[in-house]
Order: sequence, then C-alpha cells, then structure tokens
Amino acid sequence: MKVNLLNFTPEPEKTVSLAAKLCYSDSTIGELEDRVKESSQEKFLGKIIKMGHLSVLEHASFVFGIEGISRATSHQLVRHRLASYSQQSQRYVTVSSPEYVIPGSIKKDAAKRKRFETEMKRIYRLYKELVEEGVPAEDARYLLPNAACTKIIVTMNARELLHFFNLRCCERAQWEIREMATLMLSLVKKEAPLIFRDSGPSCVAGACGEGKMTCGKPREIREKFRQL
Ligand SMILES: Cc1cc2nc3c(=O)[nH]c(=O)nc-3n(C[C@H](O)[C@H](O)[C@H](O)COP(=O)(O)OP(=O)(O)OC[C@H]3O[C@@H](n4cnc5c(N)ncnc54)[C@H](O)[C@@H]3O)c2cc1C
Repeated sequence: MKVNLLNFTPEPEKTVSLAAKLCYSDSTIGELEDRVKESSQEKFLGKIIKMGHLSVLEHASFVFGIEGISRATSHQLVRHRLASYSQQSQRYVTVSSPEYVIPGSIKKDAAKRKRFETEMKRIYRLYKELVEEGVPAEDARYLLPNAACTKIIVTMNARELLHFFNLRCCERAQWEIREMATLMLSLVKKEAPLIFRDSGPSCVAGACGEGKMTCGKPREIREKFRQL
C-alpha cells in the first residue's frame, strides 16, 4: 500500500485559526491575518476543538494519492460521504497484470497462500481470455475479486478527517483500512500537528467509545497514536 499526501491548504492551522477568530472579533480580516501570522495558535486551536466549534476545520483540505489497496478497502473508504474521490475505472482501464492484496491471515500460511494465489491466477486468466475474445472490460470485470488492487485520489477536510480517523484508526476497524487511515494520519500530523494532536480512535483523546466491543488496550493504542 502506498499513501501520499499530494496537496493541502497552505498553512492549514493559520487558515483554521483565522476563520475561528473572525467569528469572535470585530477586527477586519486583514488585521486578524496579521495577528494570526505573528502568534502561536496552540492554545487557541486546542480550545476551539475542545469546545466543538469544528466547522472552522472545514477550511483546511488535504488531498491523498492512495495505491495498492484492495477494492474491499476502497468500498469502505467511499462510504465516507463528506469527501471527494477519483478512482481508477475498471470500465475504461483493462487490467494488464494481476495485482491483488493477500490478507495476513492467508499470507502467513504457505498452503493457504498457495490456494489463494492459484485461484487469483485462474480468475485473472479467464478475465484476460474474455477481454481477448471481445468482451468489454466493463463486463469482464464482474470476475474481479474484492482483493483486486485499486488507485484512488481522496480529498477530505480536517473535520471529516478527524471523524474518519476516529472510526477507521480504531482496532475495531478492518485491518487494511486501519493501516491506510493510520498512514494518512501520520502524514497530516506532520503538516497540522495542532489540529491532529489528539486524533485517532476515541481512546486517544478520552475514554474508549466502543463499549463491549472495546479492544481492551486503550493505553497501548493511546501511546501508539501519540508517537505517530
Ligand atoms: C467498525 C465499522 C464497522 C462497519 N460495519 C458496517 C456494516 O456492517 N455495514 C455497513 O453498511 N456499513 C458498515 N460500516 C460503515 C458505516 O456504517 C458508515 O457508513 C461509515 O463508517 C461512514 O461513516 P459516517 O456515516 O459516520 O460518516 P461520513 O459519511 O464520513 O459523514 C460524516 C458525518 O456527517 C454526518 N452525515 C453525513 N451524511 C449524512 C446524512 N445523509 N444525514 C445525516 N448526517 C449525515 C454524520 O454525522 C456523519 O457521521 C462500518 C463502519 C465501521 C467503522
């Protein structure tokens, strides 16, 4: 899996601070810009996020390029509606070489891995035969598995990212989307450390919100995300 941060709002934390300050000030935007430029936003942003004034976070957006994830994972990703997506099409792009994700539970067992890969080869061989016989890629793709690799460009604003990380960095989330979300968090944390300081599953900022479904190791998880 490859996750890159392709682009983001310049000075995301200053942009968010400016938007928040505007709400509580009678100064001009120019005056506020100067004030924001000159001072640290640490205390102010922390307060804004804690009090739940999260709409100001929507002014900072982040664009990710993601490759080598399975269609099983991209399907979960695109359930997040407050984001923009551009995904490689299986209608317009004919698969030339088989690329698929093998889950760890299968990979770790040589015999299971062999059976899995044999089946994948069979599927992709038939796909290729059908395309060569004139079946359109949009129909031949009905054969392709959940494991098939995909590429997707995703744009989310910081508010949606906090929500996304809350759900998808949690141990309850499926392993592949969790791995992807954690990589995304590590990238945005470098660019906006104040906004994403306590980001991750609910146990990073407070108590675990998973009730009976808790993984039971909030301390370990909290430490992992603090170190990210
Ligand atoms: C551990 C886990 C297991 C899951 N299992 C399943 C499953 O078995 N089956 C399944 O179908 N899905 C499953 N999902 C997906 C889940 O139901 C959501 O579709 C997905 O997590 C997207 O999250 P969301 O709807 O909160 O947020 P987003 O789409 O990211 O939206 C963010 C927030 O905006 C608000 N919002 C967005 N759209 C609307 C709207 N139309 N109306 C009102 N408010 C809105 C909500 O407050 C929402 O939380 C699972 C998710 C997780 C994390």
